[in-house]
Formats: sequence, structure tokens, C-alpha cells
Amino acid sequence: MEQAIVALHEVSKYYVTPQTVVKGLERITLSFTRGEFVAVTGESGSGKSTLAKVLAGILPYENGEMLVCGRPTAHFDAADWERYRAERVSFVSQSYDILPGCTVMENIVAALVMIGETPADAEVRAEEVLREVELWELRDRRAAKLSSGQKQRLSIARALAKPTAILIADEPTGNLDSANSAKVIELLARAAKDRLVLMVTHDFDEAAEVVTRRVILRDGAVVSDVILRPHAAPVRIAEAPAHRTPKKLGLFTACLQLRARPIWSAIVLAFFALTIFAVFAFMGTLTVALDPTPTFDYDNAAFRNGSDRRIVACRIDGAPLTADDLQTILAIDRVESLERFGYLTDVQYAWQPDVDYRVLYSVDRANPDADAVLIDYIELDPSAMAFAQTVPLLPEGEVFLSAGRLPQAVSEVVAVGGEEMLGQSFALYLHDAKNWNRSAFHHVNVTVVGVTDYGEGLYLHEDIGRVYLANARMYLAERESNRRYHFYTPNADLEPGQARMEASYMQYLQEYDENGELIPVTFHFARLDALQDYNYDLPLELVGAHTSTFNVLVEVSPEDFAVLTHADDGDQISITIEDYAYTDRVLDALLGSGFAAVSPYREGSVIPNREAAADRVQTILVCLAAFVAVVALEIILLRAMFALQLESYRLLRYVGLNGVSAARSVVWQVLLLVLGGEAVGLGAIFLCAAFDLRAVTQILKYLPLGTCVVLWMVHFGASLFAALWVRRAVRKQVFPDASVAPDLAWEEHEEVQA
Ligand code: ADP
Ligand code: MG
Repeated sequence: MEQAIVALHEVSKYYVTPQTVVKGLERITLSFTRGEFVAVTGESGSGKSTLAKVLAGILPYENGEMLVCGRPTAHFDAADWERYRAERVSFVSQSYDILPGCTVMENIVAALVMIGETPADAEVRAEEVLREVELWELRDRRAAKLSSGQKQRLSIARALAKPTAILIADEPTGNLDSANSAKVIELLARAAKDRLVLMVTHDFDEAAEVVTRRVILRDGAVVSDVILRPHAAPVRIAEAPAHRTPKKLGLFTACLQLRARPIWSAIVLAFFALTIFAVFAFMGTLTVALDPTPTFDYDNAAFRNGSDRRIVACRIDGAPLTADDLQTILAIDRVESLERFGYLTDVQYAWQPDVDYRVLYSVDRANPDADAVLIDYIELDPSAMAFAQTVPLLPEGEVFLSAGRLPQAVSEVVAVGGEEMLGQSFALYLHDAKNWNRSAFHHVNVTVVGVTDYGEGLYLHEDIGRVYLANARMYLAERESNRRYHFYTPNADLEPGQARMEASYMQYLQEYDENGELIPVTFHFARLDALQDYNYDLPLELVGAHTSTFNVLVEVSPEDFAVLTHADDGDQISITIEDYAYTDRVLDALLGSGFAAVSPYREGSVIPNREAAADRVQTILVCLAAFVAVVALEIILLRAMFALQLESYRLLRYVGLNGVSAARSVVWQVLLLVLGGEAVGLGAIFLCAAFDLRAVTQILKYLPLGTCVVLWMVHFGASLFAALWVRRAVRKQVFPDASVAPDLAWEEHEEVQA
């Protein structure tokens, strides 16, 4: 006798719910062979579907034994059932169970790939069966758009495409009109030539002509089992399909799912693009807020000039900076320029009348009988005045001057502006608020000899910088008194050993010997920094009163000036960086290259500001909350997407998808969406940066590459975390019995059968 391909022996099936136990099948004993076309009939609720699903390996059963090719299945674990479904059975249901979002072709290819076909082979086979069921013309149509008859034919084509010995159809004609039903039954009858076809139907008549056997169920039990006609001897002994482990089934399934719901895929992708953007924005803002400096107000006692882009530096060994040092510093990333006279950059200048300063009154210049010293009484407005600067060093290749030339004397300046400024002259009042009294200033009349686009304001001659360098380094001590004089100006009118100072002080310092001869004044200079001992006595003959300053000022000849200052180009320099955000990076780089450096803005920000501090805390909390919200939203959105996919996963399970690959496909989907979204999001960020969108570039400035990589990892990690979470949900809902990898038991059975 022919071996039964599948048989049930005393099989019962109960549906157990928390409230009830419903009987599905009761002690069913049936066996089927290849070539049979069996109609299973019975009233609604009699257990037909249950029988079909048990035979298809979709539903587990409780009692009795199901035999496959004569071998018991009691020891089957989930993986074995997965393989049984994948390789042995094709299942057609009343509800078609096709992937509505996929095309006709994709539906069949997917089913074949699930059981190990290569996509190329699968397409060849798909064409065969699609022609057979007359759907070839519609191969590229989405399954959702087919008519019911076409859907059912697609479902059957998919079953036929699978080289399985068993085809089970649960009410395949249930939703079809008679013409379509006839077509379906004809297809199944043809399929029965070389397999077992079992069809559940509520309308036996439509199949009466072709079926070979009829089984009638009532209340889960067989009440009739009649052979109607001899079944055909199978024309070909369909071999059990050689077991092939499908390759990259997870990735394939992921792509299939993503393609099946293109709109959702696009939404989630866009969301990931948004989240990477948000992560950069929020975490970037958080990084910004980690710097407490802005929560303090600036105290200018140490550094007058609290520009947040300024860094002052000197060599750690205190030696003057060499030309190489300056080039090293200029080459540091994010350094915009540097000035060799760091002390000067704490000095302010006034040059715009009625803005920076006001002339209160002048001595009448027209009246020759007036006081010999002409003094303008000037009121400075330090809040309006800019900080002095000399011509900066710029990185190689950058041009400073746009027209004219550099200053060659203290009376020459470069101005920011157009060429029309060339030749303009104005009064310049320098004011050292740190060292002088409030109303003290140094006055020079200057002419614009060059113009530039770089920065703003005026750029002074280097000698003015040297003056402040000298001031910082030395005392000019008045004989027998400790009075400090702060200012020296090299003046070409004067010979070595000659000096000029403000009238009243000149008077005060002038002394005569008993012969009525003027005793030369000797100034004592001492270096302030203890690193280099330097004492210098300079005997000066006072030759005249200063005419243009309000306060104590000593002018000396260029030669004396060079001696006093050692003509060094500076031991404290002032660096301008591109943005305050780069402060830490530049400070680190300077320290690494042997320089001591501070950010005056940061050093001077010491006055607590409660409001700013509260704002900062708020910013940090908002950023953290926003980040958590983004991750939570990510999980919610992914779960929503996968909730919609659950149905597709169930269908794919019917055609052979295993639990492991399904779980992998979830992770694959998230990976593809995250990476795609990140590509889009990061692209958008770079685009914003390229177009100089301030909000974005400002944040990016605070994020060195390392931090960016960390942020990306945070985003990626959070997404992967969400993926694993969703993966669990999918496994639990689609593969409740889910499995370890298939064991070897199946192979053994194949051999026994052979
Ligand atoms: P048929 O397909 O012949 O209409 P079924 O096999 O679907 O019948 O159902 C057989 C019996 O099992 C019915 O009483 C039905 O209510 C019950 N049943 C079917 N599926 C479930 C289920 N998932 N949970 C609980 N009871 C079920
Ligand atoms: Mg049913």
C-alpha cells in the first residue's frame, strides 16, 4: 500500500483561552496520500479550518500523533515545525494571505526565497506559475489592487510554486463567484496530479466533479470519509526539497517589508533623519551649556578686554616669542590671527568725536598770549571705545591690506573700510583704564595710510604696541619718589638722552644746581617680570613740555626707546580665535605646544549671575528631556510600524519564514532605516553648515569630531535599543513558540523515508 504522506492518529485539538476551553478537533484519525484531492466539508464551526491548520503545521495539537511520511512528530520542536511549514506544505486560505503591499511577482519570489531559492531562480519559477494561473500580465501590480479572484489565484500560484508534496487550501473559493471558483478548483485539481491536495469547502457541489475523496466533519469529529473515485497515480515523485538554508533571509525579509509599506518606511526614515538632527541640536546645546562661563558676569580687573574670542599667551619659559613660535600658533586650528603686543589689546582708543569722546573745551589756539601749553579737555566714553590693536599676523595666504600700505610711524594707521578712507586724519586718544586714572589718555594725530576688510576699527603702528609692552615690563621711577610713569613714545624729534613730558611734571622734575645749571633727570627702569633681571638708569635731559596729553607722558628718542624695550616684539601675545566655542581646543593646543595661555573672558567671568545660571539649568534639563523624548518617540514609532507589519510577518510565517530570520529582519529594517535616516539627517546638517545657517553652525562649533562620533553612536545605539525591543515584540506575537536553530532531527527522517 502506498505510504501515507501525512496522517493523523487520534489527534485532538483544544483552544484554551483564560475563560474557556473550546474543542477544535476530537480524536481524528485520517491518512492521506499523494495524488489525492480531498474535500473537507462540514458545517461552520465543525473544525474544518482547525484540521487544515493542524495538517499544515500552523497549529499545534494536544493529543494523538501526526505522522509525516510515516514518522511521528511528537518530538518536533518549533524549529522543526518551521521547517515542516517551509518545505513540506503549501497553505492557501480563504483570506488569500498575500502581502498586499508587494507586487504579484514579489509575493511569489518572497515565498520561494523563504525556503531557500535564490531570487533569480525564484523569478524563473514565479513566471511559470504566474502564467499557469494567468496572472503573468499583472506581475507588477500591487497585490492589494487585485480582484478577489485574482488574489486567490495569486495565493494558489504561490502554493504551486513551492515544490511541496502537500497543498492545503482552507475555503479557497469562499469569497469568489462561481466563475472564479471554477477556475480555482481546476487549478487545484491539476495540482493534485502529483501531490496531496486537501481543500476545505462549504460548497461541496462545486468540487464534486473533480475531488477523489470527501471527508465530513461535525463537532470536531469525522462523521464520513468516502473515496469517490480512484486518485491519479502521481505523475512524478516529487522529491522532498533539498534543504537549503536560505541565505540572508533576514535582510531579504527586511527589504520586502520596507518595500511593502513605502510610506511608512519613508516616514520612519524621515523621523530618523530628524532624530539625528535633534540629537546633534540637543546634545550640542547641552555641550554648550556645560560651559559655566556665560552664567557669570565679566569682571575687568585683570583683563580690561573681555572679548570672548581673545586668548592671551606667552611661552611657558617666559622667553620672548620667536618668529617660529608665532608661526606655530598661527597654524593651530581655529586661530584666526594674532597680535604680538598682548598688553596693548587691553588698552582702549577713542577716535570718533561725540561717540568715543567729547571735547569739553580747548584753550584758545588763536590767542598767542594764552597758556603756552595747549590742552583739549577731553571726556572719554570707555563704554563706546574699542580696544587697541596693531596690524595682526594672519595665517599664510591671507591678505590683510585691501589698499594702501602698512603704517610706518606712530602717526599712521590702517582703517577698516573702503579706499575713500585713505588720507583721512583724526585725533586718536589711547586710554589705559587699568593703569591710569580715568581721565588720562595719550593723544596722537593719525592719518589713514591703508585700508582693510579684516576685523573692525583701526590698526595702529607697532611702536604703540611696544609702548604698552614696555609699560607692562618696567617702572619709570621718578627720582626719590615711587611715582610710576607709564608711557613712552619714541619720537624722532628727540635725540638720544632727550625727553619730553607733560608741562606740569616737567616743571616739577626740573632742578638746578648752585650754578643755576639744570641737573639732568635720571629715570630708573626695572623689569616687572622677575624672570629676567633688568635694571637700567637712563639720564634724560628734559627738553620740553608735551603739548597734547592730559596726563603724565614721557617721550623719548627712538634710540632710547629701543634700549628701554630691548626692541623685543612681545612676550605676551593676543590671539583671536574664530569663535569662543573653540576656546578649549585652542587652549589645549597651545599648552601642548609649550605655551601658557588663558581666555581673559573666562578668567574674568567671576561675578555670579543668578538669572543666567537658572537659564543654564533650564537649558540642560530641556535638552535632556528632549533627548529622552526623542528616544521614547523612536520606540513608539517603531512599534507602530511593526504592529502594522505583524500581519505580514504572520503571512510570511505561513510560507516558511522562521523565527530567527524574522527577528533578524526586524533589526535589519531598523538598521536600514537608521542608516538611511542618518545619511539624510547628516546631509541636512552639512547643508545647513554649508549655507551658514547660524543656529546649526554655532552648535557644530562646539562639537569636535570625537564628540560628533560619540553623538552618532548615541543615536545609533538608542535606535538599536529600540530595534531590539521591537524585535522581542515581533517574536512574541508572530512566533510565540519561537525557536532556537533547527536541530538535525529532520535530516534523519528524510533519510529514513528514502
Ligand atoms: P470551521 O472552519 O469548520 O468553521 P473552525 O475550525 O474554525 O471551524 O473552529 C472549530 C471550533 O473551534 C469552533 O467552535 C470555533 O469557535 C473554535 N475555534 C476556532 N478557532 C479558535 C480560536 N482561535 N480560539 C478559540 N476557539 C476557536
Ligand atoms: Mg473555517
